[in-house]
Amino acid sequence: MTSTIPFIDLKAQRQRLGPRIDQAVMRVIEHGQYVLGPEVAELETALAGFAGVRDCVTCGSGTDALQLVLMAQGIGAGDAVFVPSFTFVATAEVVALLGATPVFVDIEADSFNMDPASLEAAIATARGAGLAPRGVIPVDLFGQPANYPAIEEIAAENNLWVLADAAQSLGAQLGDMPVGRFGIATATSFFPAKPLGCYGDGGAVLTDDTAFADILRSLRVHGFGRDRYHHPRIGMNARMDTIQAAVLLEKLRIFPEELAARQRIARQYSQALEDVVEVPRLADGATSSWAQYTIRLPGGAAQRARVQEICAADGIPTAVYYPIPLHRQEAYTHFPAAKSGLGVSEMLAEHVLSLPMHPYLDDETQGRVVDAVRRGLAG
Ligand SMILES: *Cc1c(COP(=O)(O)O)cnc(C)c1O
Repeated sequence: MTSTIPFIDLKAQRQRLGPRIDQAVMRVIEHGQYVLGPEVAELETALAGFAGVRDCVTCGSGTDALQLVLMAQGIGAGDAVFVPSFTFVATAEVVALLGATPVFVDIEADSFNMDPASLEAAIATARGAGLAPRGVIPVDLFGQPANYPAIEEIAAENNLWVLADAAQSLGAQLGDMPVGRFGIATATSFFPAKPLGCYGDGGAVLTDDTAFADILRSLRVHGFGRDRYHHPRIGMNARMDTIQAAVLLEKLRIFPEELAARQRIARQYSQALEDVVEVPRLADGATSSWAQYTIRLPGGAAQRARVQEICAADGIPTAVYYPIPLHRQEAYTHFPAAKSGLGVSEMLAEHVLSLPMHPYLDDETQGRVVDAVRRGLAG
């Protein structure tokens, strides 16, 4: 029996970084500014530079980042916000939490991202239901940017803002536009398993609008105004811990190299598997940060279960993102969906399988994964 490999190898990264993170964390413990300390401001400058935007506002998580933007936009009861059904729950959750209505949009099978035609159908559905369409949250699923050119055009025609959910895609690009520059703002996450992860929860909003960034900074600290005890707006406690910023500053230094490694590993997977499964396809000019490498199996859930079983027997973990689309989740079934249906989301929930993916996956281990998947399919 061979050893079990990690799905995402955070230990290999930790070894590579050596004592640098420990020292950075110790510096914070010694200086004592544990919340919004100097490393937080330093990280915000570094991340804004990385994404090519004017402002970065860090916060407690990717979910907080989405919620802060929605609060700044003042959404509430009677408002419709368009979200894909095939995503992590946070994308729709923040809309519902603020009393607005998430309206589910279908995705495209080859990119896993929001289908612009379905968005148009969903806008009609929302109007028909007496809701006021306010905004769209495209998700860059698995690391590839959504089709922002098409979505922004539809948004402009319908007077909607666009908030990019880039929790999985920091470091990717569409043409010469890096993730962070689409829409009014971009939300990202530093959950440990994301392409750029910290040692706990963390998130950030990227934006080119400095006045908007100032509102987000107020909202993340209880809606403060002239000083900490003046509150012109209702906010939340959504600050980033200084220790997490210190960790991220060290990890950001090697992030470009890690992204290049992810691209090489994804290419190798695709070359080794494209004759037996549908491998992920990138749009013209798009890159992915490869948060996940997700294939589509020709058979349905039964074949997938068999492939997973054979992989597991060989010590290879696999994952299904996402087994139940959001419009089928108990807490979300009462929300409206595009009139044209969510057939692609439902189909993909049965066919997708994500394979081990991280920058430290060596050729031999990757060969083991490929071999197990191929045997599982031949099953
Ligand atoms: C991870 C994720 C989030 C939430 O980020 P957290 O930091 O875990 O709150 C939101 N949207 C998507 C698409 C995600 O993958």
